[in-house]
Amino acid sequence: MINEKDLLEITEKFGAPVYVYEAEMIIAQFQRLNRSFSGVKKLKLNYAAKALSNISILKLMNSLGSGLDTVSIQEVKLGLLAGFKPEDIIFTPNGVSLEEIEEAALLGVQINIDNLSVLEQFGNKHPDIPVCIRINPHVMAGGNTKISVGHIDSKFGISIHQIPHLLRIVELTKMQINGIHMHTGSDILDIDVFLYASEILFDTARNFKQLEFIDFGSGFKVPYRSGDIETNIKELGQKLSSRFNEFCEDYGNTLTLAFEPGKFLVSEAGLFLARVNVVKQTTSTVFAGIDSGFNHLIRPMLYGAGHEITNISNPKGRERYYSVVGYICETDTFGNNRRIAEISEGDILCFRNAGAYCFTMASNYNSRYRPAEVLWYQEKPHLIRKRETFDDLISNQVDVENLFDNLEPTPTLK
Ligand SMILES: *Cc1c(COP(=O)(O)O)cnc(C)c1O
Repeated sequence: MINEKDLLEITEKFGAPVYVYEAEMIIAQFQRLNRSFSGVKKLKLNYAAKALSNISILKLMNSLGSGLDTVSIQEVKLGLLAGFKPEDIIFTPNGVSLEEIEEAALLGVQINIDNLSVLEQFGNKHPDIPVCIRINPHVMAGGNTKISVGHIDSKFGISIHQIPHLLRIVELTKMQINGIHMHTGSDILDIDVFLYASEILFDTARNFKQLEFIDFGSGFKVPYRSGDIETNIKELGQKLSSRFNEFCEDYGNTLTLAFEPGKFLVSEAGLFLARVNVVKQTTSTVFAGIDSGFNHLIRPMLYGAGHEITNISNPKGRERYYSVVGYICETDTFGNNRRIAEISEGDILCFRNAGAYCFTMASNYNSRYRPAEVLWYQEKPHLIRKRETFDDLISNQVDVENLFDNLEPTPTLK
């Protein structure tokens, strides 16, 4: 595993802030998930590209034998560019146009439709293209509604209460349904809740005779710090596999069990390194202000995610309390009242669990550059994305010539 010295060398070589991903950890997680479901005959893991979509990461997943779960036509194209075969890509968008779905279908990608309106239109136009349907089983996974997408008011999926209407559309259009899907959102804490949702999926599946797969989505919880609860993958694997095998026997066909893990595969493999610009003592607290902000890592502000923060420049230093904040001209607090080894200006702080939904959510807010990305593989750092430059900021802006030539300066300001 990568150590503090390696990380500091990476910041010297590639600068900071920088994202670092440990390939071996991604590989280990992929294999761990595979092992947990070794009890099923046909297993398919489709990596959720939106968690971390750098093409080198996609190529790593492809080499491991993973498929790809995509939510936009651009992710589909990235996947194809990374070498995935179209049939190993599933397109699971929400609220996109019929045209975008058709474009993906024409590329040979597995389509997953999550509303009756598009299902009916697609079925009418392309009855021969097999389609997977996304079901909303109305089960709450985890407690945070920002990341729970299976509950009653969620915009995701076709409600199980609409199955009669769904069946009518399928019957009238003569379209072929080859997969049933659910994704109840991040944070499967309670395996029994997940298994309960799976039963709803099995009940739905019995309505369709030509199924090839059942896709259970994702939502595996990973620990953010020691002592955090994580999904017990082994137990889930044993229980769901045996239930799935029973279902297949009953259904009369060996279906593929599919998952679409994002966070589980890449979250813990990622580290974010940023330099401390200023240590600022106020009457009530000590701020460590870093050379970054929610433009690079928004999860703490958007979801209240508690990324562990350590000072890798002074790992053995005496611990003190800090509020770690960014440089964005809004409140952008990474962590309040954290005990961190004594921080001096210029030190490098390391944020853990920065593999999933971190770089992919980065922006240019405050006209800042998005950081570099480095893949650590076989004990060596490989630059997999250059830090942006000023040219990147302006390359799409159109400077219309002479546009304001006739505009006089405001007289009182002369
Ligand atoms: C985001 C997403 C995933 C991945 O979720 P994780 O919590 O990162 O594992 C899987 N399936 C769909 C449809 C998604 O939108």
